[in-house]
Amino acid sequence: MKRAHKRVLVTGGAGFLGSHLCDRLLARGDDVLCVDNFFTGSRDNVLHLLGHPRFELMRHDVTFPLFVEVDEIYNLACPASPVHYQNNPVQTIKTAVHGAINMLGLAKRLNARILQASTSEVYGDPTVHPQPEEYRGNVNPIGPRSCYDEGKRCAETLFFDYHRQNQVDIRVARIFNTYGPRMHPNDGRVISNFITQALRGEPITLFGDGQQTRSFCYVDDLIDGLMKLMDAEGDAHVPVNIGNPGEFTIRELAELVVRLTGTGSELVYRPLPTDDPMQRCPDIARAQKLLGWAPQVPLEQGLRRTIGYFAEALGLEAPALT
Ligand code: NAD
Ligand code: UDP
Repeated sequence: MKRAHKRVLVTGGAGFLGSHLCDRLLARGDDVLCVDNFFTGSRDNVLHLLGHPRFELMRHDVTFPLFVEVDEIYNLACPASPVHYQNNPVQTIKTAVHGAINMLGLAKRLNARILQASTSEVYGDPTVHPQPEEYRGNVNPIGPRSCYDEGKRCAETLFFDYHRQNQVDIRVARIFNTYGPRMHPNDGRVISNFITQALRGEPITLFGDGQQTRSFCYVDDLIDGLMKLMDAEGDAHVPVNIGNPGEFTIRELAELVVRLTGTGSELVYRPLPTDDPMQRCPDIARAQKLLGWAPQVPLEQGLRRTIGYFAEALGLEAPALT
């Protein structure tokens, strides 16, 4: 059966993930209202959409109430990189918590389905590996990452309370590290740092001994997962991990970036940030069962595309990818 076209609100729509989501929703025929305060996002990410007849861009901070009419809400507004979210921790918590309350209130009034962009950070520095959704996490409530981790945990609590108390139709995606074109070159995340350092021939900065692990999901796969979760019928009122279970040490990632770019950059070691999780890898059995979803893009392929994007964005010569 043909899917009815919808009016969709994307908060944080001018950010890295949000802008890709806007592209995909428009491509399938939806109307998109992109709301963003441009804290870490930028008009540049959605510049190509500004003339689109079904696209609207609104500058707004989600910590304040929003009165619009839509059928679905993707709540992505929140800085995601540790450098950015620690820059103004109080604003980060306000965005996560007040933003969730405002968007849930809107969903309640409109009887709209709402999806929360939650995070693997709700598991903190995990003691269970890989992390299934049942795992309750190991989170420091008073550290420098807490504004984000606890803000996102509180947002999840709000989502489930609005569901139980007000029957709001919720979706909660626990997103693991995602990368791809339109990441901010200065956002301090590991993939953007390593690629920009490699392309500029600067030293590649490994924090700690580089033996900590992460699992990297290419943005196209991630957006697929988010949209499948939003569209899922039946009982999807459970958190769902969305990420790529391929697990790499940060040192392996650095070596791969060096090989792919052919850079002469050396690897240098810097102190490990406080509360930096030692290992992270999603158990995606629930997403596979509930959504029939699994990531398709291997790390090397996704990195090649991302390297090409950064070379162009920085006005540097694209390496002959090896
Ligand atoms: P991003 O920083 O590129 O995008 C976030 C967007 O939200 C930006 O455009 C920013 O300007 C906007 N924003 C921030 N505060 C706002 C506010 N108060 N009001 C309105 N807009 C606001 O980050 P991203 O990687 O695209 O992440 C999007 C969402 O996905 C975030 O909620 C993040 O926590 C979540 N997430 C991302 C990852 C990842 O690896 N990219 C992992 C886990 C969770
Ligand atoms: N990291 C690193 N060098 C960098 C940036 C990050 O070694 O220049 C490490 C960081 O300490 C962490 C991992 O890479 O262990 C992922 O960091 P990121 O900030 O991308 O995301 P996180 O998963 O920690 O939120």
